[in-house]
Amino acid sequence: MNIILLGPPGAGKGTQAKRLVDERGLVQLSTGDMLRAARSSGTEMGKRVAEVMDRGELVTDEIVIGLIREQLDRGGKGFIFDGFPRTLAQADALGRLLEETGMKLDAVIELQVDDEALVGRIVKRAEESRAAGQEVRRDDTPEVFADRLREYYKKTAPLLGYYYAKGDLQAVDGMGAMDDVAEAIAAKLP
Ligand code: AMP
Repeated sequence: MNIILLGPPGAGKGTQAKRLVDERGLVQLSTGDMLRAARSSGTEMGKRVAEVMDRGELVTDEIVIGLIREQLDRGGKGFIFDGFPRTLAQADALGRLLEETGMKLDAVIELQVDDEALVGRIVKRAEESRAAGQEVRRDDTPEVFADRLREYYKKTAPLLGYYYAKGDLQAVDGMGAMDDVAEAIAAKLP
């Protein structure tokens, strides 16, 4: 089973993706995690994307499509795409990659969370990381968050129409407790 989790930053895509990994044995493909790994490894690509990420903008389609392409042979029980695709070009590319590898998309889940709740979640995530002595994401500040949300509406929200038109989109209320959201997602999956 291959699933895309769509939704604004702070909607809970990563949290719900990890649950699906634990409960269904799917492989989580988070381009955000891959890009953070690249930046901390100090590669040329990592250095280039770090600046873009810290501004709250999207890195190029070419880079993220390349990252996803490298992972698709890890198949197994299927993938959860978390934070990818984020543009129409990425969605088209994913469609082609899945077709080439003989896979299909089973569901696109939109996590719906009010804008006002999102920034609060981001600030809380940063506080929790700090309290646990973990590295705080440099883009988890209210200032950068505003730019990330703008990028979402400009470039990623059009994917809702794209997948709706294909009959793949399923909306889930992402405002509730983590367990309730997980249950709502499970009810939408085949
Ligand atoms: P995330 O962890 O999904 O919130 O992603 C953090 C940052 O990584 C984003 O704000 C972008 O700068 C970059 N990023 C992650 N995934 C993508 C993607 N699919 N396309 C472009 N940029 C991405």
